[in-house]
Amino acid sequence: VLTAGTLAGGIVTVLAGLFLAGRALVPIRVSWDKQQQFVADASHELRTPLAVIQSQAELLFRHPERTIEEESEKISNVYKETRRMNKLVSDLLTLARSDSNQMEIERKPLQLDALLADVSWQFAQMAELRDIELTTKLQPGIQIEADEARLRQLLVILLDNALKYTPAEGKVHVSCSRTSHGAEFEVEDTGEGIAREDLPFVFDRFFRGDKVRTSSDGGTGLGLSIAQWIVEAHHGKIRVDSTPGKGTSFTVFLPAKK
Ligand code: ADP
Repeated sequence: VLTAGTLAGGIVTVLAGLFLAGRALVPIRVSWDKQQQFVADASHELRTPLAVIQSQAELLFRHPERTIEEESEKISNVYKETRRMNKLVSDLLTLARSDSNQMEIERKPLQLDALLADVSWQFAQMAELRDIELTTKLQPGIQIEADEARLRQLLVILLDNALKYTPAEGKVHVSCSRTSHGAEFEVEDTGEGIAREDLPFVFDRFFRGDKVRTSSDGGTGLGLSIAQWIVEAHHGKIRVDSTPGKGTSFTVFLPAKK
């Protein structure tokens, strides 16, 4: 029952996702070629988890007499791939909607330092578990106009990456300050860094560094393209600096008002 439920859930999510993504593609802002490439890449990325789920389910059906304990590895594989697919479909929907201008940005007055403190606090436990020192230096009282949910999503992407690509005993630092036109914030890490030849591509959809492509950390290669979209929707800029073996920093500049 568990397996059938998980499978059905995953498949329904994917079908619903593709249906919505298809609908979202109607009023197109990006070029037709890019859109086709996006659909082709998305289908390709969905194939891998689907193939794993299908093969594991087939193996499970071969031995209906076995207990859940005996088959826990296959069930766990199905579960992991379903989760991965869920994340992928939700990221794809965000991007498909942003392409077709269906994603609303609601800018309201917001205190940037408080938001950064809150999200950093949410990551504190994960950092501790991974033996990474997470610190902040936040100038107080920075007012901007921004979409809180989207800005939160942006921070989650950057902090999640910083923790993901920094080994144990490393450091992650979050800072923000006022600038003449608005505000800037930075997420810095002492992780593995990004190869110089990869730097121009990190914001591309589905781009994943060589080392991480084969790993099973559940990444989709879509996080930074979503991050870039969020920043641009706020008329801001995002910059990456990285030294392989030393670390990476992402800096975001946000204008104070529309
Ligand atoms: P994902 O993390 O799912 O692979 P992203 O779009 O978030 O996708 O990132 C794209 C690629 O950029 C990653 O695969 C990784 O190679 C590189 N990257 C992103 N953030 C960092 C970081 N803080 N340190 C090192 N590499 C990073």
